[in-house]
Amino acid sequence: MIEIYKKLPKTNCGKCGVPTCMAFAVKVMNARQKMTDCPFVAQENNEPISQKTAITMDDNYERVSNELEADAKRVDFKETAAAVGGSYEKKNGCESIHLAMFNRPFEMRREGLFENDAYCHDSWSKIIIYDYIRRKGARPLSGDWITLGHFPNTASHVKAFQRSAEEKIASTFNKNVEGLKGRCKEMGGREDTGKMKADYLCRFDLLPRIPLYLCFWEADDEFPASCKLFLDRNAEAYIDIEYLAYLVERFVELFVKV
Ligand code: SF4
Repeated sequence: MIEIYKKLPKTNCGKCGVPTCMAFAVKVMNARQKMTDCPFVAQENNEPISQKTAITMDDNYERVSNELEADAKRVDFKETAAAVGGSYEKKNGCESIHLAMFNRPFEMRREGLFENDAYCHDSWSKIIIYDYIRRKGARPLSGDWITLGHFPNTASHVKAFQRSAEEKIASTFNKNVEGLKGRCKEMGGREDTGKMKADYLCRFDLLPRIPLYLCFWEADDEFPASCKLFLDRNAEAYIDIEYLAYLVERFVELFVKV
């Protein structure tokens, strides 16, 4: 991913259809987009990713996932399940933690992560959930809301991503607040009154202790619709900030896919 990223302009302009160059690099690596989808890539960089580089990248993903898996397997399952909002189970002497990501149920066992009783082979799901478990919910949620770009030491691409994600939701549901409400319901959101004065406010649990608050203001005569996404100030105690940005990105992708 880093090799691909180095070849990009790193301006996070969003013209390739994803908000950041980093997210684009991930998609190219996963063969979900082509290098040529970025209109600014120099001709000499347009050659296909070599087999060797692709293998190295897969290996790298696998390596990160394996390292996090080793850490996640070592935690005290009972204590951790309570701290991260999962449920603990012990069946026939085998312990596990059940939790949902985007309403998809996962099970962390001593053998690794399982989905529908089968070992999970999706590297990103594994990396995110292993990181979430190994951090063991180090701090309780604060109840304070901040945007992704306001976490300390947030890289500039995270800030840019946040902006474009909000713009994407606002433009998709401009003058269509009923459509927005319907989509929130489909995605498992719960209407909230919250701390923010907005025309519509909905809470989603990306992971049990990673709430995301979507605030939406309808268009008026002067301004188009706008949207803000908020996270709990202590979310970074539960998950690495880059993985958090990725979770929000995945959420927005799914959300606007109507
Ligand atoms: S990769 Fe995407 S976000 Fe980055 S410069 Fe190219 S078009 Fe813009």
